[in-house]
Amino acid sequence: MRATVMYGAGDVRVENVPDATLAGPTDAVVEVTRAAICGSDLWPYKTMERSETGRRMGHELIGVVEAAGSNVRTVKKGDVVMAPFLICDGACVFCREGLHSSCINVGRWGVATPDAGQGEAVRVPQADGTLVVLPVGRDDASMPSLLALTDVMATGHHAAVSAGVGPGTAVAVVGDGAVGLCGVIAARRLGAEQIIALGRHPARIALAKEFGATDVVSERGDEAIERVRELTGGFGVHSALECVGLEQAVVTALEIARPGGAVGWVGVPQEEMVPGGVAFWKNVRVAGGPAPARAYMEELLPDVMEGRIEPGRVFDRIASLDEVPDGYRAMNDREAIKVMIEL
Ligand SMILES: [Zn+2]
Repeated sequence: MRATVMYGAGDVRVENVPDATLAGPTDAVVEVTRAAICGSDLWPYKTMERSETGRRMGHELIGVVEAAGSNVRTVKKGDVVMAPFLICDGACVFCREGLHSSCINVGRWGVATPDAGQGEAVRVPQADGTLVVLPVGRDDASMPSLLALTDVMATGHHAAVSAGVGPGTAVAVVGDGAVGLCGVIAARRLGAEQIIALGRHPARIALAKEFGATDVVSERGDEAIERVRELTGGFGVHSALECVGLEQAVVTALEIARPGGAVGWVGVPQEEMVPGGVAFWKNVRVAGGPAPARAYMEELLPDVMEGRIEPGRVFDRIASLDEVPDGYRAMNDREAIKVMIEL
């Protein structure tokens, strides 16, 4: 079969790899029908050291079950399924509490299994815990939004939940990538009254407004902080969603949170960071981390199926598997917000 392998910064190839096969009784093999390139895939795309063996890429996928091991109970051959960006058992103490991203048997695509999303098929370990059966056919029109649930929409939702967004709150979203845009959707869904999007890219700002942003702040750094305070009666927002992962964005989120407010931190930290004393002196809570996408996928599925949210609109480019290397380039050059791979 064919799959995406990264060999170093800027070096993404689609090549022949061993076929995905069942290796144990709790595995399933899924033929991938939709996958995506993630903003977090761009960090290795910028910085990965050269590797002889390469690294299989992709952690967002939807597909059709080709085979299921003898102990798999919840999925069967022919089911259309989606998988979250982390593999989990669905049964441990943290999974039962809804924090599947802290599963004691958590696994990463391309690590816990040789396979990863950006390829023709995957072996899925712990299939019962990981996979969610979808109530639609393999090429249903809802596919982009369902695919968004596997990572970016779950992550944007986690930022909003972690930051305590609720009815009547003032929210600011730091980051205009796919996660930040999904954070706007999540904030509106949870009843925020004011949603300030921080960003400057015209197409992304336009989408943020369509998703429910009430204000846009295009300044950066201290000027952005000042502008958010002006828009919120001088105090800042109840909930700041940090959807970038760089120190300046974290500092901005902490600075624009009002006293007693909260920062929902979901941008994967790319630097050693010291959040600083500002959070302490304002009684600002900092929460977040990797989203328990497996739990949120089920929670948000009815909203997608009934058309209340449409996170699939963050996909502004569709690529075939062979076009994946150019998809990385396009996202890295900020030509595309997010690329969906159709197989
Ligand atoms: Zn678990």
